[in-house]
Amino acid sequence: MSYSRFGWDGSDVYLYAAIEDGVNVIHCEQCILAMGDFIPDELHPLGGTVTTKEEILTRFTSYPQLEKHIEDHRHVGHHVPTYVDVRILREKEDPAEAWLQL
Ligand SMILES: [Zn+2]
Repeated sequence: MSYSRFGWDGSDVYLYAAIEDGVNVIHCEQCILAMGDFIPDELHPLGGTVTTKEEILTRFTSYPQLEKHIEDHRHVGHHVPTYVDVRILREKEDPAEAWLQL
């Protein structure tokens, strides 16, 4: 069950839900943030990588963690489709739909 996929609607993130050891999680698979800080330039719209000092979480068990991560992607110019926000909001508003901890 994916929330967004690379390339689909220009998405720079691949978010998918999974169950690991009985715990609901969402992964940011092959996270380009975790691979390094991106510096936009003309030749490489998503920039070149430089090593990050902090380890970036790519496995989320709560909505605040996931929302912070999406915010971080957008902060550096990565595209995260707005339907991801719509879906997260819907899940947060309806406990029966919630995948992660609120
Ligand atoms: Zn990510």
